[in-house]
Amino acid sequence: MDFKKIETLDWLEDARRQIQRLLAGGRLPHAFLILSKDGLGAGPLADWIAAAVLCESASGRPCGACPSCNLLRAENHPDLHRVDREDDALQVKIDQVRTLIDALSYTSYRGGYKVGILSSAETLNASSANAFLKTLEEPSGNTLLLLIAAPSHRLPATIASRCQRLVLRTPAPDLALSWLERNGLAEQGRADLLQLSHGAPLRALELDCASALNLSQEMVQSVAQLEARRVDLSLVAERWVKSDFPLRLIWLENWITDRIRSLGAAGATGVKTVDAVVLPRSLLKAKIRGLFGLLDDARELKRLTGTSINLQLALEQTLIKHFVRE
Ligand SMILES: [Zn+2]
Repeated sequence: MDFKKIETLDWLEDARRQIQRLLAGGRLPHAFLILSKDGLGAGPLADWIAAAVLCESASGRPCGACPSCNLLRAENHPDLHRVDREDDALQVKIDQVRTLIDALSYTSYRGGYKVGILSSAETLNASSANAFLKTLEEPSGNTLLLLIAAPSHRLPATIASRCQRLVLRTPAPDLALSWLERNGLAEQGRADLLQLSHGAPLRALELDCASALNLSQEMVQSVAQLEARRVDLSLVAERWVKSDFPLRLIWLENWITDRIRSLGAAGATGVKTVDAVVLPRSLLKAKIRGLFGLLDDARELKRLTGTSINLQLALEQTLIKHFVRE
């Protein structure tokens, strides 16, 4: 665990301060539910909270020098237990949850807190989630549970309501861009990569710059062809689903929202739209309505990735619905 690096994630500063206040006031809850999309640093934040709680310096933040901090740095602290979805698994398994609950029921090795971090909590099924209920209802002393889930989680209310929520927000674009600059992302394409990452800086840093920019260009072409109805829909669907589908859906979402914004502005001022035409108001309204429909469908497709649904077929139906008119 790299405490220094975690503390450079500026947009998590408020969350860290909140934890420090709770720690200082002795008001730490037994469980947090950290809600975050990918790339905002929910994992590093959970690590930092665990370290702040386990640190033996009583300074309210990881000192980086005490025995506990050293054990954490070596990923070897006996009172920190982690569970994440295994590679290729669709869910965190109930056995993993039971092992975690078990580990948290013993006395702490170092006489302080015991901390459990459970990532991908949105993938817990009902019985796995319910296995937590007893731990949440009757937590043993000095236990802290950190659940990390996507904002669209479907955790039962019995679980979610027993955790204090910590919602990670996307940083403002200027903040994210200057952080990316400080972290060595070249200026060319920086803004594009951030957009393709839905504003999540850590995700933008992970993307391969050249291939992400190629993908953007290819999508511009694809959408123009779809609009002009000059392309075979099933071929488009096949190509999108086969490579970088999640990224393409984010690109599509961005494209749709930009378009809605530009048409909305055109409607308000009567100026030309991105198509350089002035549309009659009624047509404009219909067009915007259509785009909102497409946006809903694109978000639904995003939800379906990671399920066993035939994505190509689902995408093809969406394209037919929105790009083929009688
Ligand atoms: Zn320490």
